[in-house]
Amino acid sequence: MTDQPTIRAALDDVPAYRAGKAAPRGAFKLSSNENPYPPLPAVQAAINDAASSVNRYPDFGSSLLLAAVAELHGVSEEMVALGAGSVALLAQAIQTVASVGDEVVLPWRSFEAYPILVALAGSTAVKVALRSDHTHDLGAMVDAITDRTRLVLLCSPNNPTGTVVGQRELEDFLARVSPDVAVAVDEAYIDFVQAPQKFDAVQLLADHPNLIVLRTFSKAYGLAGLRVGYALAQRRLAAALRKTQLPFGVTTVAQQAALASLASRPQLMTRVAQLVIERDRVFEELTKLDVDCPRTHANFVWLPLAGETAEFAEQCSAAGVVVRPFAGDGIRVTIGEPQGNGLFLDVARARFS
Ligand SMILES: *Cc1c(COP(=O)(O)O)cnc(C)c1O
Repeated sequence: MTDQPTIRAALDDVPAYRAGKAAPRGAFKLSSNENPYPPLPAVQAAINDAASSVNRYPDFGSSLLLAAVAELHGVSEEMVALGAGSVALLAQAIQTVASVGDEVVLPWRSFEAYPILVALAGSTAVKVALRSDHTHDLGAMVDAITDRTRLVLLCSPNNPTGTVVGQRELEDFLARVSPDVAVAVDEAYIDFVQAPQKFDAVQLLADHPNLIVLRTFSKAYGLAGLRVGYALAQRRLAAALRKTQLPFGVTTVAQQAALASLASRPQLMTRVAQLVIERDRVFEELTKLDVDCPRTHANFVWLPLAGETAEFAEQCSAAGVVVRPFAGDGIRVTIGEPQGNGLFLDVARARFS
């Protein structure tokens, strides 16, 4: 007996989340894949309106937002689950299908939250290395599935490499995965993908009762600070995802801001188009340098700098640009305001030309 509470042994395996560094005054924060645009006036107004009723609990079922999301995707409301950011939905997806001793197969390197959330559930993360071109190795991921596997995570576009899983590839993959294993496709950056890569895993839901599609209002919609996202799946799985939701997890302010954002989707997508133009400009400039960046389909670029990572990140900081280094692996740089992107390119040119 000890004089302290017993803490679950699973927590020993939980890596700490390292968030993108805050930017010092005057510096550009290109470290967290945030949208550089502040909320549209209509969204800001919805936030202000909702603020006046925060003495009340939010609508438990978030019924208006549920209906609006269902309409956007042309699915029934029963196929939607909402949560406090898609990170919450991801935790819900894991909790829905995996428990202590189960395995979750995931690509690596990918989103840092994945191994943390898997470990919190007491499950084991089976990390499958990306191919040398920084894309998911779907063949190896199928091979990594065992009879303990309950869930496979895919991230398209992948954070931090910006690479996508193609439609044919995903269809072939789903055909090879046993229907009793769930597959969650994290599409946090889907609105930044352009034709011919653009495709919506939502259209595969009808044929795949084991598929979960994760979306967020944090990136293209610019509501990272409010914490709202959703999952789409067939009814049975969606109902289970809703059961794992924290009661009142999506606040009234978040619900109203998300609703106003859906109502303003055309204007928001115009901003996304501007960010895409800026992203392509940054990427084109990087291709002229002696650095081998994969073609990106998200709102960030990936510089696989291996041993040079820490030093280049320092140089960026010194120039007033905060980027996101992954020690020994590479640097992710968010597409932000043109001025910040330009500063970053200056540092990159100085080092790699
Ligand atoms: C940013 C991000 C999310 C979204 O997280 P929220 O909890 O919705 O803010 C989900 N997945 C990936 C891969 C991300 O990069």
